[in-house]
Amino acid sequence: AKALGRNTYSYFNEKMNRDVSRRLELEQAIRGALQRQEFEVVYQVQVKVNSGEIIGAEALLRWYNPKLGQVSPVEFIPIAEQTGLIIDIGQFVLTQALSVLASWQQRHHRALKMSVNLSPRQFRDIKLVDMIEQALIQAGVAANCLELEITEGVLMSGHSYIKKTLSALSVLGIYLSMDDFGTGYSSLNYLRQYPFDVLKIDRSFVQGITTESTDRKLVNAAIAMAHGLNLTVVAEGVETQEQLHLLKSLNCDFAQGYLLGKPCRAKQLLVLELMPL
Ligand code: C2E
Ligand code: CA
Ligand code: CA
Ligand code: CA
Repeated sequence: AKALGRNTYSYFNEKMNRDVSRRLELEQAIRGALQRQEFEVVYQVQVKVNSGEIIGAEALLRWYNPKLGQVSPVEFIPIAEQTGLIIDIGQFVLTQALSVLASWQQRHHRALKMSVNLSPRQFRDIKLVDMIEQALIQAGVAANCLELEITEGVLMSGHSYIKKTLSALSVLGIYLSMDDFGTGYSSLNYLRQYPFDVLKIDRSFVQGITTESTDRKLVNAAIAMAHGLNLTVVAEGVETQEQLHLLKSLNCDFAQGYLLGKPCRAKQLLVLELMPL
């Protein structure tokens, strides 16, 4: 038992060392990645469930480093958060996304929308609201065509400046979306406190709706609740026609997922047909 204990110990120890050095490697590489132009923003369409029409897109960040290869945002965003680099990176994403949105709108003469993810650390930046306002002006995009996706992580600290910031963004006309709904601890409490406009149902629930009756009931209830609060609903991670059909029967407003379109480069986004064939 003792020997086993020691082995287990050294196993975890080695794993920990590997994790720490991977982290350090990523942290070093991510500093300067902006300057080296290693980031790219890709876009995933959002469609109206009842017509299939494209109404907007979500901007998603990609990082390619010559030495590390493609690194997932799930891995590097937390590091960018902790080091504060997310402030500059977040500004880069917003600026890119709004400039693409302006071209997209001009091409189709339509008020298409763009969703951009905001991370908790960006909320501690007192210049956030100014930065967003300037970015909108510079791109020539109306505030009500921008949607900011916020996870519970942002709201959890409960600081008063979060409420002020969200209110200021809302007053500008920007839409606020609660991302990954259902995965956190107190989403309902946050819906009560903050001026959200959109509820984004997490992929983990959407994936189960055709097979698990509990998931279907939860999604049904979430949609009814959101509508009762005058929020629109986006289902994320829609991968099958069956899921889409079911979401339609549950009155879900919008959908996003591999079935409707994988994240694509700006160039491809601009030439997509908005109406389904
Ligand atoms: P998220 O905001 O929940 O974004 C949705 C994720 O689900 C994206 O992963 C997207 O590519 C993926 N996805 C979309 N449709 C499907 C589907 O049908 N099936 C499956 N299995 N997955 C699907 P991605 O791009 O790897 O991003 C992961 C997370 O990283 C995002 O989750 C978001 O939290 C964060 N992230 C990405 N870009 C940014 C950014 O610019 N800023 C911030 N703060 N976070 C970002
Ligand atoms: Ca999101
Ligand atoms: Ca999400
Ligand atoms: Ca997510």
